[in-house]
Amino acid sequence: MKKILIVGQGIAGTLLAWSLRKRGAEVHIWDGDLAGSSSSVAAGIINPVTGKRFVKSWRFDEFYPIAKGIYQQLEQELGISIWEEHPTLRLLGTPEEANDWAIRCAQPEYADHLGETEHARAWEPFLKPGFRFGVIRKSARVRFPLLLTTFRENAHREGIFFEKSIDYQQVETLLQDYDRIVFCEGWRATTNPFFPESAFRVSKGEALIIRFQGHIDRIPTEMVKKTMLLVPMGDGTFWVGSTYRWHFEDTLPGTDGRDYILGYLHEMFDTPFEIVNHVSGIRPTMIDRRPLIGPSTLNPKIFIFNGLGTKGALLAPFFAEQLAAEICTQKG
Ligand SMILES: Cc1cc2nc3c(=O)[nH]c(=O)nc-3n(C[C@H](O)[C@H](O)[C@H](O)COP(=O)(O)OP(=O)(O)OC[C@H]3O[C@@H](n4cnc5c(N)ncnc54)[C@H](O)[C@@H]3O)c2cc1C
Repeated sequence: MKKILIVGQGIAGTLLAWSLRKRGAEVHIWDGDLAGSSSSVAAGIINPVTGKRFVKSWRFDEFYPIAKGIYQQLEQELGISIWEEHPTLRLLGTPEEANDWAIRCAQPEYADHLGETEHARAWEPFLKPGFRFGVIRKSARVRFPLLLTTFRENAHREGIFFEKSIDYQQVETLLQDYDRIVFCEGWRATTNPFFPESAFRVSKGEALIIRFQGHIDRIPTEMVKKTMLLVPMGDGTFWVGSTYRWHFEDTLPGTDGRDYILGYLHEMFDTPFEIVNHVSGIRPTMIDRRPLIGPSTLNPKIFIFNGLGTKGALLAPFFAEQLAAEICTQKG
């Protein structure tokens, strides 16, 4: 049985720990609760199409069923509800956008995922007039904070979770106790000396939690997206985000991020709202926009699981399984 230390308990570290333990490995997890962590502020949305041209996400049809299966297994094992499937109402602001959408809907590989609709459904009373609408049928939300907190509490009770940060000087000594060390540090890996060649291009993201004011007959359960995405949180509030900043001086929410989100909210809505919270995190994005997974070139017992970028919810389950299988079948 291998003994493995996982450094970082965001979505990458959590799912890797689960996949390794399922294969019989002994796992310890360290997390220093460091500023700028991404999973704790993310909406956890899985969306089949992204970008202005509504292009299908990389290997979506392969990754989606695996993600769904794993999150649902975690729901059962942990006794929590973290997987929700909701359609997303896509606001189309210009005739060109509506035309691009119609073209996508007519393509066979998009037919399962996208559709057209005449009305804004439950969002009708909230929106400014003048939009056309599309529907993204297969979108889902993973409740990251609930998953992470519950997993951490259980691991803590079992005595395998430790609230501490790693000092890179300790690694050689730790390898006398552990067969492998896997770094799942999110954006903090940019300074990890065991992966000097990693091509990170991290981005700061901010989101607001808002509540619409006044009497509301029916609170929508669907998500709605234009430039900003609104996600119903189930308690009358909505997560709204997010921003992308490639150059930033700190990890904290700022007035520029807030004003940017508010600008787009005012383009979408007539209904007044209040801001309940404002959060920020740093996405661990790579230049090639692909996950970064594998051993260090300096020491084959040290691994990295990172680079989930904007798509941690979709990618982490598949790649955690792959990495766990690889580590558990290695000799030595
Ligand atoms: C505003 C925002 C919205 C987003 N929305 C979505 C979304 O809707 N859907 C989606 O799929 N993705 C979304 N993302 C991206 C998503 O958050 C990331 O893909 C994913 O969470 C990255 O997870 P991670 O585990 O790699 O890193 P993180 O979540 O950052 O976790 C890293 C962990 O490692 C710990 N750590 C770091 N260094 C050390 C150390 N040296 N010692 C000990 N512990 C350490 C940190 O404390 C942290 O807990 C969003 C991101 C942001 C910022």
